[in-house]
Amino acid sequence: MDIQNTIQSLREELNLHNHNYYVLDTPTISDYDFDQKLKELQDLESKHPEFFDENSPTQRVGGMITKNFATITHKNRMYSLDNSYSKEDVLDWEKRIQKILGDVPLEYTCELKYDGASISMTYEHGKLKRAVTRGDGFQGDEVTNNIKTIKSVPLQLKGDFPDSFEIRGEIILPLEGFAKMNQELIEIGETPYSNPRNTASGSLKLQDSTEVAKRPLDCLLYTFIGNDVKFATHFESLEKARSFGFKVPKEAKLVKNVDEIFEFIDYWNIHRHELPYETDGVVVKVNNLHYQDELGYTSKAPRWAIAYKFKAEQVSTKLNSISYQVGRTGAITPVANLEPVQLAGTIVKRASLHNADQIEKLDIRVGDEVFVEKGGEIIPKIIGVDFTKRSLDLLPTVYITNCPECQTELIRKEGEAQHYCPNFYGCPPQIIGRIQHYISRKAMDIEGLGGETVALLFNNHLVQNYADLYDLTVDQVIPLERMAQKSAENLVNGIEKSKEVPFERVLFALGIRYVGETVAKKLAKHYQTIDNLGNASLMDLILVDEIGERIAQSVVEFFENPENQIIIQRLKDYGVQLEAKTVFNPDATDKLAGKTFVVSGVFEKFSRDDLKKSIEDNGGKVGSSISAKTDYVVAGDNMGPAKLEKANKLNVPIISEDDFIAMLQ
Ligand code: AMP
Ligand code: ZN
Repeated sequence: MDIQNTIQSLREELNLHNHNYYVLDTPTISDYDFDQKLKELQDLESKHPEFFDENSPTQRVGGMITKNFATITHKNRMYSLDNSYSKEDVLDWEKRIQKILGDVPLEYTCELKYDGASISMTYEHGKLKRAVTRGDGFQGDEVTNNIKTIKSVPLQLKGDFPDSFEIRGEIILPLEGFAKMNQELIEIGETPYSNPRNTASGSLKLQDSTEVAKRPLDCLLYTFIGNDVKFATHFESLEKARSFGFKVPKEAKLVKNVDEIFEFIDYWNIHRHELPYETDGVVVKVNNLHYQDELGYTSKAPRWAIAYKFKAEQVSTKLNSISYQVGRTGAITPVANLEPVQLAGTIVKRASLHNADQIEKLDIRVGDEVFVEKGGEIIPKIIGVDFTKRSLDLLPTVYITNCPECQTELIRKEGEAQHYCPNFYGCPPQIIGRIQHYISRKAMDIEGLGGETVALLFNNHLVQNYADLYDLTVDQVIPLERMAQKSAENLVNGIEKSKEVPFERVLFALGIRYVGETVAKKLAKHYQTIDNLGNASLMDLILVDEIGERIAQSVVEFFENPENQIIIQRLKDYGVQLEAKTVFNPDATDKLAGKTFVVSGVFEKFSRDDLKKSIEDNGGKVGSSISAKTDYVVAGDNMGPAKLEKANKLNVPIISEDDFIAMLQ
């Protein structure tokens, strides 16, 4: 096969795997194998720039910077939707259209109303040409580079797609991905995003598409535009869109009459919280596209569609008390303790009150009857007070001035909404939180030690900081609650083993404010040792790629602190990795240099991934498909017949895993 064909078939293969994973939710390849293939394609493309294709799956990682988004006039205006809030509204809507169409039987497509940012995408010859935001409906911003990074957006269509068309949909941030993004922010002591919709629409306007690529955005499609696209019905057009490779939620349903519309609405009104994304209603569309044409548009919205808005699920309940939580970074969060109440399928007892300003703005007082709402956010929020029920003796809320845990006077920095307890080294929840972060899975990942045990160790004066962990003995631990000889040994062993954790993760584990996983990796790579990092000046740090002033400032402050200096010295003495190690594999040789292997089938002595790694560790290359360039096929059980035939045809030797092991000896 020549290079161009190899590139082409790798692209097709990767496109297919993206589609299986991100559109159909049914991956058929391991992440490792996917990454290998992607790497292979990247290599080939960089060696052969003449075959560059802006729609190659390698382009999804981003890298394009858009300084100014070009303004594009929509060929077809992007309308709003008329809203309805009751079944009567929907019945009225049907009457209005029946009047125009003259009492014909009507079918409808019911879809969920996806809550994100609308997008209009143009495809030509099966390739994504352009993506434009809705803007004011007449003009929007071109955000093609950013949209390309979204894995469920097909870059190359399949099937019998029209040569040129526009398709519209919604860019959303699924709830799970949103929660994960927020978790990462919380881990580095940053303020989480407030809701998925704003975060999704904000993402489209990021200048650096690499940043967009990191966000777990999704694109759900709901309509074709343009006269070239000929379908009989809207529902059929959705099915077609799906067959071209677009992600069209399977919840969309064809219904025969208004009663079935109501069934759809009633069903999703209850079940909407089970969806992986947010929805704030249902969109009902006349199914027959001729009728849609006949009905046309008002000055604002299509006559052939109507949105039914779910009522925000809201209840009122009594505010029993306000408590104040102290986070790992010292941030204070006021929490409302509520009279338990049923809301959107769960019992709500607590709600966040955000900060002092919010409490003052809503004039919330203990004893009030308050309205609680569950939006897309995972945590329900208090949206106001029922003043008709306020009794005269309730006192205005006075925000605490001192830390509820250590009594230190709270501070509030200019421009920040949150109060902080500045007693970083003496405030128990901050100390415990820091040690819990140190041992957490993405940090030192200490087996046998959990968050609750950390609190126990602290409360029993056994540890005051994470360096103290390394002095713990089995005898000290055994007397603790729920501990026994075995679990105490596991704990001490787990701590011992953490001395092997690589520097970049240790750096993350230290819990320096704003130094999350990614930043820790960058710093570890750049500075190599903790001493280099600790000696770096503010200016040095800012000059490191992607390190801003806020992070730099925080790093400098951390290392200037004498207590931290002592802790670092102690960690060094215990043998914790405070320098980057060059990875050295004692088994590595160059015995397989210059040889390309293809691996096929199931093996006894290796997992496929280990076999591939072993090939690479010994200087060989792993190819994804058999070609004239393949030197050996390592075959396990169940090797595919097509591969076998191809290997035979090209005279490529087929070896067993034992043959392979022999080669290394
Ligand atoms: P609104 O912004 O409330 O006027 O609603 C109109 C917007 O709803 C459109 O611009 C779309 O972005 C969005 N939308 C979400 N889901 C759908 C859907 N299934 N069909 C049509 N529009 C939808
Ligand atoms: Zn405190």
